[in-house]
Amino acid sequence: RETLDNFSKELVKTDRPHDEVLFRFRQWFSSYRTEESGYIQNTFEEFKGIIWDFADQLGEELHAEKQNDEKVKSSLDQLREAVESNSIEALRATSREFIMTGAFNRRSFDEQAKRCKTVFDISENPVSMIMLDIDFFKKINDNYGHDIGDFVLKEFVHLLHQVFSRPEDMVCRIGGEEFVVILPGFAVEHAIKKAEEALTRIRKDVLVHGELQIAFTASMGIAQLLPGESVDQWLKRADTALYASKHNGRNQLTVAQLTIVSERVA
Ligand code: GH3
Ligand code: MG
Ligand code: MG
Repeated sequence: RETLDNFSKELVKTDRPHDEVLFRFRQWFSSYRTEESGYIQNTFEEFKGIIWDFADQLGEELHAEKQNDEKVKSSLDQLREAVESNSIEALRATSREFIMTGAFNRRSFDEQAKRCKTVFDISENPVSMIMLDIDFFKKINDNYGHDIGDFVLKEFVHLLHQVFSRPEDMVCRIGGEEFVVILPGFAVEHAIKKAEEALTRIRKDVLVHGELQIAFTASMGIAQLLPGESVDQWLKRADTALYASKHNGRNQLTVAQLTIVSERVA
C-alpha cells in the first residue's frame, strides 16, 4: 500500500515525466506478481506434501492393522492419484467427492459388483441392487444453486447410509445424482422392503439449510442378480426398472423383469 501511495504521489505531484514513473510502476508490479505466484506455488507444493503424507500414513496404518476397509482404501487411492496429477482441479473434484458423499464411486462400484457376482456364482448366496435417481434434481440446482444441490446429495447419502446400515451394504454414487445400493445376501423381496423404507424416509425428510426447507423424492429400480447374468445385464435391468419408475410418475420403486436382457450398458 505504501509503495502504491508513493507511486500515486509521484504521479500527481512531481514534474517528472509520467512515462518514467509508470515504467517503474510496471516493473514493480511485475516483480510483485512473480513473488506472489512463487508464494502460491510454494504453498501448493507444501499443501500437496501434507495431503500426500497424510494419505500415505493413513494407508500404512490401515494396512498394518489389516483393516479391510475398502471404502477408505479406495478413497485414499483416489486422493493420491489426484495429488499426483498435479492439477488443482482434479484435487478439488476428488476431495469434494471424498468429503461430499462418502459413497463408493463408479470404479469401486464396478469392482464390488464384480466381486458380488463371483461370490454368487460359487455360493448362490442372493444379491440385489437398488438403483436410485433423485427426482427433478435439476430443479433443485436451478432453484437454489449448485451448492445447495451438493448439500442435498450429501444429505441423501447420509440418509441412505442410515437405511442401508449393515457393514456389507454398499452405497455407490455411479453418476451425478444416480446411486446404486448393493445388498449382499438379500433376495429381491428383502431388497423391496428396504427400498420401501428408504422411499418413506425420503418423502418425510425435509432438509433445512439456513432459511431454506427442501423436500425431494427419488425413483428406484430393484434387481436381484440372476444365475448366468453378467454385471452389465444386472445393471441394465435395474436401470430399465428405474426408468419405468420415472415414466410412471416418479417417487416410486419398480422391480426389474426376471429375464436376462441382451443389450450391454454403455
Ligand atoms: P429426473 O427426475 O428425470 O431424474 O430429472 P432430473 O432433473 O433429476 O434429471 P437429470 O438427469 O436431467 O438432471 C440431473 C442433474 O444433476 C443435472 C446436473 O446438473 C446435476 N448434477 C449432476 N451432478 C451434480 C453434482 O455433483 N452436484 C450438483 N449440485 N448437481 C449435479
Ligand atoms: Mg434425477
Ligand atoms: Mg439422473
